[in-house]
Amino acid sequence: DVVFTAKDLTKTYVSGETQVHALRGVNLEISAGEVVVLLGPSGSGKSTLLNIMGGLDHATSGELSFKDLRLTDLDDRGLTSYRRRHVGFVFQFYNLIPSLTAYENVALVTEIADDPMRPEEALALVGLEPRMHHFPAQLSGGEQQRVAIARAIAKRPEVLLCDEPTGALDSRTGVRVIDALMKVNAELGTTTVIITHNAIIQEVAHRVLFFSDGQISKAVTNEARRAVA
Ligand code: ADP
Ligand code: ADP
Repeated sequence: DVVFTAKDLTKTYVSGETQVHALRGVNLEISAGEVVVLLGPSGSGKSTLLNIMGGLDHATSGELSFKDLRLTDLDDRGLTSYRRRHVGFVFQFYNLIPSLTAYENVALVTEIADDPMRPEEALALVGLEPRMHHFPAQLSGGEQQRVAIARAIAKRPEVLLCDEPTGALDSRTGVRVIDALMKVNAELGTTTVIITHNAIIQEVAHRVLFFSDGQISKAVTNEARRAVA
């Protein structure tokens, strides 16, 4: 099953006299349950694509669909509804609410979802059930990021979009965050798109897309991993 289809997708930022062509005709398909890494130099368009896939921004031209839903036909309201229903986000910084425990940070999201996981279930998936009553300040950076992952998946989104999820972590801690993302993918089948420079994620991902100047210049499929998935 194809989850995302992009056809000649472009994004041009205009400010005053200057135009920045952030995406110059991106074509791609992402299948259900895939873990795809977006790789490439700073400014090559990775975040722009992730933001459009997440319904945070509009494309300039071309098509992007989530299953049968043409995201590029939706207005802000339509994108908000798509995002709430189907997309979880993980960013470099965790943005947990400091006055709430890990459990409460996750519960805040599950209160408004249709068919949420129990907070303890989501926290167990990322290996944090024993610490669910800790406050963010009592958790290491890697643990806080795993709470953020639990929060992102607790509404059972079909898609998880991650922008440098290990960017603020050392490599040892980063590995545990990666393990958590792969476990979520294996157990829930969540389609996962990750912008990262982390070499380990590139090894465990099903596919790596290389960006260059607003286009996908190369795609490498990890057939062995994909067979397992
Ligand atoms: P990457 O994620 O690969 O670093 P981005 O998608 O963030 O690349 O950026 C692609 C290009 O678009 C860059 O030249 C960047 O400066 C530009 N850009 C990104 N966001 C904006 C914005 N909101 N306004 C103007 N230009 C932007
Ligand atoms: P990790 O590898 O998950 O980052 P660390 O080895 O850094 O874990 O930390 C071990 C334990 O110490 C963590 O489980 C956490 O409970 C505690 N800890 C780490 N950093 C802090 C901190 N800044 N404040 C309070 N407790 C912390």
